Amino acid sequence: MMIKALYPGSFDPVTRGHVDIIERVSKSFGHLYIGIIENASKDAMFSIEERLILMEEATAHLRNVSVISFSGLTVKYAEEIKASALIRGLRAISDFEYELQLASTNRRINPEIETLFLMASTKYSYVSSSLVKELSLYDSDISFYVPACVEKALADKKMEGK
Ligand code: ADP
Repeated sequence: MMIKALYPGSFDPVTRGHVDIIERVSKSFGHLYIGIIENASKDAMFSIEERLILMEEATAHLRNVSVISFSGLTVKYAEEIKASALIRGLRAISDFEYELQLASTNRRINPEIETLFLMASTKYSYVSSSLVKELSLYDSDISFYVPACVEKALADKKMEGK
């Protein structure tokens, strides 16, 4: 049986830190779904469609990875697609409290679905989507932080005045 995992997140936009997690974890599963969460309460710069396209481009080199979007409870969506694990990345200690709360809640809903954490690679451990959006606003070079397609998309947003 093919073991599937789901890596959920906002990915607004995808960074090299996310791609690093995806490349590393995809080696351990038959299939990895990247789930872009449609979260109405979060102010997003990129629409769901834009985030899907950017993520697809950023992960096009990985054969067992596919990108989808979903709304509602992550663990319920994982059940639907028959994923047995949720993947999350941990950067600094500041991620820990929120991730613990999330993982504990999800385990209570469905104890069969484990949340697995990967430590961020040192070189990306401080990288976040908000950081790159801020840097891009001030014309800083962001090529180290994001895939080329995201660099271009951020430049386009800036041109549009967003
Ligand atoms: P969310 O809104 O769900 O936190 P994000 O897109 O910010 O969505 O992050 C998705 C997941 O990726 C989270 O588990 C987050 O901790 C992790 N993550 C974010 N940035 C990095 C990074 N630079 N390195 C490793 N993991 C990361």
